Amino acid sequence: MTDKVMDQLRVPDASFTGEVVRPGDPGYEDVRRVHNASIDKRPALILRCRSTADVVAALAVGRESGLEVAVRGGGHSIAGRSTTDGGILIDLSPMKGIVVNPTTRTVRVQGGATWRELNREAAIHELATTGGVISSTGVAGLTLGGGLGWLMGTHGLSVDNLMAVELVTAEGEVLDVTEATQPDLFWGLRGGGGIFGIAASLEFRLHPLGMVTAGLIAHPFEAARDLLAYVREYTAGAPDELAVMPLLVHAPDGSGTRLAAVAVCHAGSPEQAETDLAPLRGFGSPVLAQVGPMPYPAVNTMLDDGFPRGARYYWKSGFVAALGDGVIDALVEGFAACPSAMTGIAIEHFHGAVTRVPVDATAVPHREASFNVLIAGVWNDPAGDEANAAWARATYEALAPFLVGRRYVNYLSADDTAAAPDAYGGNLTRLAELKRRYDPDNVFRLNQNISRA
Ligand SMILES: Cc1cc2nc3c(=O)[nH]c(=O)nc-3n(C[C@H](O)[C@H](O)[C@H](O)COP(=O)(O)OP(=O)(O)OC[C@H]3O[C@@H](n4cnc5c(N)ncnc54)[C@H](O)[C@@H]3O)c2cc1C
Repeated sequence: MTDKVMDQLRVPDASFTGEVVRPGDPGYEDVRRVHNASIDKRPALILRCRSTADVVAALAVGRESGLEVAVRGGGHSIAGRSTTDGGILIDLSPMKGIVVNPTTRTVRVQGGATWRELNREAAIHELATTGGVISSTGVAGLTLGGGLGWLMGTHGLSVDNLMAVELVTAEGEVLDVTEATQPDLFWGLRGGGGIFGIAASLEFRLHPLGMVTAGLIAHPFEAARDLLAYVREYTAGAPDELAVMPLLVHAPDGSGTRLAAVAVCHAGSPEQAETDLAPLRGFGSPVLAQVGPMPYPAVNTMLDDGFPRGARYYWKSGFVAALGDGVIDALVEGFAACPSAMTGIAIEHFHGAVTRVPVDATAVPHREASFNVLIAGVWNDPAGDEANAAWARATYEALAPFLVGRRYVNYLSADDTAAAPDAYGGNLTRLAELKRRYDPDNVFRLNQNISRA
């Protein structure tokens, strides 16, 4: 670390009211860690912010130091983009303020909040918006990359519900970015990731939603091909309210038993849910069927146990146009060979509202009816790193002939360095222009590095 940085932090700028954590400090080992334990980076300084002014001050320290600057919200980046080896980590995770306005049906949330926290506050008023399906994921990182979740069919992506971003720019300016104030930048923030600055807070549109009908139906793995083929028919023409996520997973009892399952969330009336879900409930001979009414925040915790903090993660993902027989074979054969009893494959169905937004309306280009396949390698033992990553890559390769050349930026792994064209498609050129305008020095470089696009 440079002397200048040390000086600044020995006599901290009065404008920084947050916590400064250095290597060797109590708590450093805990605070430096992110969700994915295979990311083992050691920042030179961690600046834990409490407010927008802290973010501005922390960024000034980071820029002054000349060191790499990392920004952390919920810390879920599988690629390890929210931390740095030897750089400055601007940690927004203490910034969890959430204010719901039930009259305007909006919520303002600070940049360190998680979806569990946002859902809980909105649920008091029986309101909700599209967010991640795992409750510990950060609102900021997820939203800036797009935001897939149970309500995509009814309300589009998280970015489709984003109304404003309080953005700290590379120059340390604080902008209120909305469609009205900075339409270009607002366009880029809706999918571009954290490439333009730090979202100190974000504002979302909320929708009336109290209870949903949701849960899990699991079949023996031997039924996987039949189940996936059935889901192909079942999802064709599915109503917007019906979100269906086929899963190839292991039983949670640690036995290693493989299962073919479907997680569902129906955001319509209980009567409509009953009717729409009846055929799926009636299919085959499930070993478990737990579907029923639950509060919307609960459905977002239903799969949490499969993605614990401190496990090791390596993911591959891509979109397929349909669940054709070739796709099904590749996934079923791939899953049969999987080396970890924590690993799963999830398939996210894009239909309804998310597909009615024009491809260039936001930076997110994924607007076609399709399926996003997530090959989610999860394991605990560092000795398994190579085997698990190799398995995910091999399964992805087997899927390659069916991929349509589009990939969700938030699921990319650290070695997906050249994936920007697939992540942004025709929107990449406009994003690159905006990046040059708003962050010419590439201060915010720990993301799909659009500046080189
Ligand atoms: C278990 C798990 C479940 C997931 N489920 C979903 C899902 O259901 N839907 C979905 O769409 N995605 C999902 N994801 C992917 C998720 O969207 C990304 O990992 C996302 O980047 C996480 O955001 P975060 O704030 O937690 O991450 P972080 O690791 O903190 O940040 C990720 C990226 O965003 C940047 N960033 C974070 N906060 C800010 C901020 N305030 N301002 C500017 N830049 C910021 C970081 O610098 C980094 O580049 C999941 C990931 C995991 C690990």
